[in-house]
Amino acid sequence: MSPAASRPQLAYLTAALDELRAKGTHFNLRVLEGPQQPVCRYDGREVINLASNNYLGLADDPRLVEAAIAATRKYGVGSGAVRTIAGTMRIHMELEEKIARFKNAEASVVFQSGFAANAGTVSAILGKDDFILSDELNHASIIDGARLSRAKIKVFRHKDIAHCEELLQEVAAEPGRKLVITDGVFSMDGDIGPVDKLAALAENYGAIMMVDDAHASGVLGRNGRGSVDHFGMHGRVDVQVGTLSKAIGALGGYVCGSRDLIDYLYHRARPFLFSTSHPPSVAATCIAAFDILEQEPERIDRLWSNTRYFQGELHRAGFNIGGVTTPATETPITPVIVGEGRAAMDFSRALFDEGVMATGIAFPTVPEGKARIRLILTSEHTRAQLDQALETLERVAKKMGILKQE
Ligand SMILES: *Cc1c(COP(=O)(O)O)cnc(C)c1O
Repeated sequence: MSPAASRPQLAYLTAALDELRAKGTHFNLRVLEGPQQPVCRYDGREVINLASNNYLGLADDPRLVEAAIAATRKYGVGSGAVRTIAGTMRIHMELEEKIARFKNAEASVVFQSGFAANAGTVSAILGKDDFILSDELNHASIIDGARLSRAKIKVFRHKDIAHCEELLQEVAAEPGRKLVITDGVFSMDGDIGPVDKLAALAENYGAIMMVDDAHASGVLGRNGRGSVDHFGMHGRVDVQVGTLSKAIGALGGYVCGSRDLIDYLYHRARPFLFSTSHPPSVAATCIAAFDILEQEPERIDRLWSNTRYFQGELHRAGFNIGGVTTPATETPITPVIVGEGRAAMDFSRALFDEGVMATGIAFPTVPEGKARIRLILTSEHTRAQLDQALETLERVAKKMGILKQE
């Protein structure tokens, strides 16, 4: 036994892990050997990759790689400080200007991740006398930001505008500020947040409107401008968050809004103030990615065409891809509902052994009884790869009793 293993202080963690093992939901990390691609090698096995958020195949795009290398040669590998001390490089400002123009917003600020953008922004703009009205399926980073703000959190039922309004009425007489917040695309079910209706509601009640477009960035709206563009709501959403880590292919998160919102976040958002800024290579990569979004909308067309084809075939094969007891997907995020946590994890493992990488997701990430595998299409999957994945999914599901044998 190692000296650390004999110490009793952390034995409760071992017990908790044993409990996960007993439930069949413990996992080991799958290790990718090589770039993030439609077919790649995890743990030494070649698989069709339906698990990444690399929607547009940009994670290893040669032009982005070149941009990262060129910036590294020119500016080095690190920024050397937080943004507010000495770590704001010209290229950071260029990326923010580029994002603001792309999103048709006055200004933009980039954080180290989408998580940091959400948590840092919500906690900065609200305080303990304020109210946050949050969709029950909003992302963990929103929930953490809400908790850090110490504002009172009112959770409305998923996409339930009437319920959100009820909660707004309840707190209307309170002096605190109100923030209505939703994901643009919900990450577990793939449905689209009712940004148009919520923004109109927020306006009626004088509430701030905020959208987290992590899974909408590069996917929804013209050239992937996101949910606000998708719904034609420009100018009516006060705070737009996006990620640079999914369709954009690199790493980071951003907030778009008024010049004063961004200036305020410069002064008060804690991840901005207390954590070092991106290496210049990341900023350069993202700048190159936005050029591609503008110049190659056909990537997004391919993404949607793959999505329609794949989801149509899954539906035809009899899979439950949501829409009855869970929301129906409207995006490339494709849940295949299995039910019990252990069954979903077993399905995921069996698919991996047969050459398909599909994430198993169980409680507490999704409700008890709604465990699933989650598949994500990209623009770069070929029809042949999708057909092979469909054949495997059907064969393994039948063997495991997830699909009925005909
Ligand atoms: C992935 C995700 C984030 C976090 O983005 P990162 O850039 O990976 O930190 C935030 N919100 C939602 C809805 C997400 O799906």
